[in-house]
Amino acid sequence: MQLAEGGFGNPPQAGNLPYKACLTCYDENSPISMPLRFYNTLSQQVEDFSPARDNTVRMYTCGPTVYDYAHIGNFRTFTFVDILRRWLRASGFVLDHVMNITDVDDKIIRNAVARGQSLDEYTAHYKEAFRADCALLRLETPEHVVPATEHIHQMALAIDRLNAGGHTYSSDGSIYFRIATFPEYGKLSHNDFSGIRAGARVDVDEYEKADARDFALWKAPKQGEFSWDEKIGRGRPGWHIECSVMAIEYLGETLDIHAGGIDLIFPHHENEIAQSESLTGKPFSRFWLHAEFLMVEGQKMSKSLGNYFTLRDILGRGYPPEAVRYLLASVPYRKTLNFTFDGLQSAKTAIERLRNFKLRLETGAFPGGVNEALAERTRAAQSQFDAAMDDDLNTAEALAAMFEYLREVNTAMDAGEMRADNRGAALDFLAHFDSIFAVLQPTAEAGEIGDAEVEERIQARNDAKKARNFALADQIRRKLLEEGVILEDTKTGTRWKRKSS
Ligand SMILES: [Zn+2]
Repeated sequence: MQLAEGGFGNPPQAGNLPYKACLTCYDENSPISMPLRFYNTLSQQVEDFSPARDNTVRMYTCGPTVYDYAHIGNFRTFTFVDILRRWLRASGFVLDHVMNITDVDDKIIRNAVARGQSLDEYTAHYKEAFRADCALLRLETPEHVVPATEHIHQMALAIDRLNAGGHTYSSDGSIYFRIATFPEYGKLSHNDFSGIRAGARVDVDEYEKADARDFALWKAPKQGEFSWDEKIGRGRPGWHIECSVMAIEYLGETLDIHAGGIDLIFPHHENEIAQSESLTGKPFSRFWLHAEFLMVEGQKMSKSLGNYFTLRDILGRGYPPEAVRYLLASVPYRKTLNFTFDGLQSAKTAIERLRNFKLRLETGAFPGGVNEALAERTRAAQSQFDAAMDDDLNTAEALAAMFEYLREVNTAMDAGEMRADNRGAALDFLAHFDSIFAVLQPTAEAGEIGDAEVEERIQARNDAKKARNFALADQIRRKLLEEGVILEDTKTGTRWKRKSS
């Protein structure tokens, strides 16, 4: 399957135009003009950002491992990446963004073997589920979405070059990266690994935290496992080499930005740096951006606590996907996000306020002319919004600027102070806001739940039945019925139709 086809996200809207290039809505005399800046995990500093070459941002972000449905903690990171993409473009840059799909790893092999399926058969379902979930959350498709299994040969060639450079050793048919050959190891996670035991190694993709060991680049197949036949031997690549090789192949030896979840800093990104810089002798990425963890109702998300949610679990409870997107985007990415159902309800309410505001602006009958104070207020609100986003994507401040403006303009409209010529700039600001937050457009037509959402909820109901959670399954069925969708369980699966009105 081609993941890149069809796209993850919503179609381009007029609001996606680079806002800062819009002369009618950007005030060059605005008081604060700070450059775009990000906190760089590598330097532990906030640094001004611009791409190294021409106007293009070369960016790599670690994608999903398709052994299961992605959970909302994963989607917190993917939503951060989407906001980052949109803000870079609003800042006038061109994007060249690569995201990998890890479709071979220990868990995938284990599960595929257990089901008697090929890797492709096993991962196809989860790749498609990921694509569908991203579309529901309006996450834009990166310029390149690249599955690891389509780049095995390039990975083997890179490992061969690391062999030639003296960075590896073999044991029992597997090839390991020798960390001692890369003295800067630890520079991203800022850990001191000088005391690590030379030769201590792991060959699995799952690591204990803070445990630095030589890691597997190429793993000899165990009995019955999937493998590829390459010059370096029969085997399959480790997880880390996948990202280094695909990043360099598509983006060149030095990236502008590498991003991912904070849990990837060590060992994954540290290992990516060791491999890549040993291969090229150049810095692997200029900026490293990491999104913090997501908690659920104040607790770490875990299956055993019963607070582990996939996107479809949440949509199955009747929340619109844009409320999930809003909640995930509303907390600045370097702060821990506490996901609560109260928060989701508030997100829904906030979106309704924005939509009502837009409707009132569009349909209100205002006297002719312009209210200069209001025009000035609009420019100031835009500047505040932009300044917040430029400040390491401070989405909370940006939202605060929007809602303060909304409140003031509503008051002005109540008092009859709004003028017809203030309408355009106010709607432009809303469009600019929505080119980043993307929540104004309802997912389905008013009063009608969309086909994709019906399918999602049916899947959530099937999952609930499989987990013998019949109360939840029944709740989903009843909720759909309330919304005019009738389910029929047949031998071949669940059929559905809309109630005729
Ligand atoms: Zn990666």
